[in-house]
Amino acid sequence: MTHIYNFSAGPAVLPREVLEQARDELVDWHASGMSVMEMSHRGKEFTQIAAEAEADLRELMAIPANYKVLFLQGGAHSQFSMVPMNLLRANKTVADYINTGIWSQKAIDEARRYCTVNVAASSADRQFTYAPPSSQWQLSHDAAYVHFTSNETIGGVEIFETPDTGDVPLVCDMSSHILSRPVDVSKYGVIYAGAQKNIGPAGLTIVIVRDDLIGETIAGTPTMFDYKIHVDNGSMYNTPPTYAIYIAGLVFKLLKAKGGLAAMEVSNIAKSSLLYDYLDSSAFYNSPIAIENRSRMNVPFTLKDAALDDTFLKQAQEHGLLQLKGHKLVGGMRASIYNAMPIEGVQALIAFMHEFERKYA
Ligand code: PMP
Repeated sequence: MTHIYNFSAGPAVLPREVLEQARDELVDWHASGMSVMEMSHRGKEFTQIAAEAEADLRELMAIPANYKVLFLQGGAHSQFSMVPMNLLRANKTVADYINTGIWSQKAIDEARRYCTVNVAASSADRQFTYAPPSSQWQLSHDAAYVHFTSNETIGGVEIFETPDTGDVPLVCDMSSHILSRPVDVSKYGVIYAGAQKNIGPAGLTIVIVRDDLIGETIAGTPTMFDYKIHVDNGSMYNTPPTYAIYIAGLVFKLLKAKGGLAAMEVSNIAKSSLLYDYLDSSAFYNSPIAIENRSRMNVPFTLKDAALDDTFLKQAQEHGLLQLKGHKLVGGMRASIYNAMPIEGVQALIAFMHEFERKYA
């Protein structure tokens, strides 16, 4: 059988070692006689699984003690509302947002239900193919917070700098690059991420929130949208996505064993450079993204002749290279190469692309 490489943007490829361990533990976890799926979230077995997952994530990301880690549901989409509901405090009515593509736009649209949004910078002028540097952001003087999307999963635009917003809390949607490189958590007020790309299965959303931002919500905030409720209940106010937390915990342990986020960064630079260098060397393929913002996780590219797109996808599939179709809003191709994509997958993709170019150029 041809080796399969899955380039899906999410849910996405998971580390083989984790899937195999989960298989071995599926029916009977650590001689407990139960599958993790069957355990009470309040029992001693699952409490231990969740506590270890949190401790390992804290260690991996070097999360300072004054930050809470929440394991929630509702996806990053729910955070588009939870952020304004919890951070618009004490007479603040304005929030600053950076618009670098489809996901920031969605966050902006949702925030407009609760406050005035100042779009402090936007890359709409060049079809979201770059990110304006923070030195050009037109921040308002009275914003409750500044929100940005550090990796636009659809557009393939990544922001590598950590913006300095002074006393105004910095909020970041890290859904599609969390754990791909070290970040200085202490520079952020809130970091959130859906799990289904670089962490584990869909259904789990991770929120890292500085403790002074917890405890005040706007009128009418539903109980489930109040960070404090989840903090006070150790992410177990309602039944958490237990199996997704367990798998995420296995991923955290694997990343630690592999040398942590610094090692992930080295590997992600190697994989993405290989692919971008190839795209740049070819007249048949094109990367539309500004060099300084090229995502290490999601690599969009186009073929010189879009009429060949379907043939490319069909033949790629026959070579075991799956889910390379770009998002319907932008077209073209997209190779998502998260932590769990081995370099051999990128090499196999390039070999196929090279051969395809030879046949059709
Ligand atoms: N933000 C980003 C950057 C994303 O990539 C996604 C999902 N692709 C979302 C938000 C929405 O995540 P969810 O579907 O988990 O709500």
